[in-house]
Amino acid sequence: MCAERRHLAGELNAGFVALTPLERLRTLVKRAGGPVVFTTSLGIEDQMITHLIFANDLPVQVKTLDTGRLFPQTYALWRETEEKYGRRIKALYPQAEALETLVNDQGIDGFYYAPEFRKNCCGVRKVEPLARALAGAAGWITGLRRDQSANRSDMDFVSFDGARGLIKANPIFDWTRDAIVAFTAEQGVPVNALHAKNFLSIGCAPCTRAIRPGEPERAGRWWWEEETKRECGLHVDDAGRPVRNDAHRPASADAAFERLPQ
Ligand code: SF4
Repeated sequence: MCAERRHLAGELNAGFVALTPLERLRTLVKRAGGPVVFTTSLGIEDQMITHLIFANDLPVQVKTLDTGRLFPQTYALWRETEEKYGRRIKALYPQAEALETLVNDQGIDGFYYAPEFRKNCCGVRKVEPLARALAGAAGWITGLRRDQSANRSDMDFVSFDGARGLIKANPIFDWTRDAIVAFTAEQGVPVNALHAKNFLSIGCAPCTRAIRPGEPERAGRWWWEEETKRECGLHVDDAGRPVRNDAHRPASADAAFERLPQ
């Protein structure tokens, strides 16, 4: 199965470039050979894809990872989107026991203390729920764009996700942010109110800030960390290497505790 999907990813990749995003989605759904899942963060790229799926009634499961730390504006957009299209966006939540252990070990905002604590938090709140979101899927749609960051500049339109054994497709990979803004405005697609306040890439509230003029698009995500390491573990490289996640009991939890105000 994996070899077949790897081959199919290469085939789709070759033919994908000349297609529109909607044609890419239709092709993926037709060729994937099993369920196709779209995971949305409700950012503007993902809202464009959600629009294409819902407005064209494509057989794609639309899911989101509710980390419990999202902005109120994101929850408002989630509701607005469901109301506009009359469709449900399926929610996945962190496992309660893992979340309790995480917070009790490294604190409610432990991610500020050390990179491994940040990865632990993303592991419990995002990576593990993503695994459940994608269980049984043959294809995974994302809203990644090549020009979002240096980490994403050499990614393909379609790739084989070796770690998860599925085809990963990025239907607006070659679109610019300006083109997406124009598309959503023309089509009346609801977008997060924070985008108008210079929050270009929006994730969890404590880990996202507005960017300043001239800063890269994703500079507001985990801004206290080194730029090349600012990914959350949802996206793995071609060799299937996920970001390290030893989530439940970080070895250096005691060190973090020592740094907290006593
Ligand atoms: Fe935790 Fe921040 Fe990652 Fe959200 S983005 S899961 S709050 S570390």
